[in-house]
Amino acid sequence: MILDVLGASGGELQGHRTTSFLVDGVLAVDAGALTASLPLEALLRIDDVVLTHSHLDHVKDVPLLADLLVGNRERPLRVHASRGCVATLRESLFNGRLWPDFTRIPGPDRPILELHPFETSTPFEVGRYRIEPVPVSHTVETVGLVVSDGRAAFAVSGDTGPTAAFWERVNGTHGLGALLVETSFPNALQWLADVSGHLTPRTLEQELRKLPRRTAPVWLYHLKPAHQAALERELHSLGLDGVKILSAGDRLQL
Ligand SMILES: [Zn+2]
Ligand SMILES: [Zn+2]
Repeated sequence: MILDVLGASGGELQGHRTTSFLVDGVLAVDAGALTASLPLEALLRIDDVVLTHSHLDHVKDVPLLADLLVGNRERPLRVHASRGCVATLRESLFNGRLWPDFTRIPGPDRPILELHPFETSTPFEVGRYRIEPVPVSHTVETVGLVVSDGRAAFAVSGDTGPTAAFWERVNGTHGLGALLVETSFPNALQWLADVSGHLTPRTLEQELRKLPRRTAPVWLYHLKPAHQAALERELHSLGLDGVKILSAGDRLQL
């Protein structure tokens, strides 16, 4: 399994793109950096997008991608999201005001885009991949994910503050090749991390203690670009073994 990091940041700024991971060129996990990262031919190869939650930095390229696909793709692009996230996309995004309803364009029977809701605790299949969502602790309905192709697997935390079920699931998954964990704000903004459902280096360190046997490398993502330097300093001083910061352009071979 090849995991291409298209965006690994908690905000958009020159040199920083928001969260988006591409699995084997065909499955996108979050859509914060698709259209600005890939040529049209690569975008046309993506059959499925799985979303962790409805926040703009994770969904913003779904509407932009839909716009590019008109007339260029035979089958609909399938977007998989929790029921709450699907409702938000329908009501607040594809509502004909913020953006056209691409689930009915060019026609309701042959749309550019299909929205497929999933239950937040029920595994489902997407192509050759098994996706296990796990509810995490954020300000809107959000899931972490374990993505597996039967041989390799990785887990991604989604946007979350301190949480429990996700770590239990990670502990119970054998053969995990990578563990992607959010860390958004420096310790000085702990209050903001707490009210917005995010981690700081301090709470990250506490969360990682919930992994008694850490076998997979830990990759940190969703660092807020305005606080990148402070975050790197604080993370470095923790001296956590096997923990690295992920960047756009990284490729993980699992
Ligand atoms: Zn986010
Ligand atoms: Zn969020």
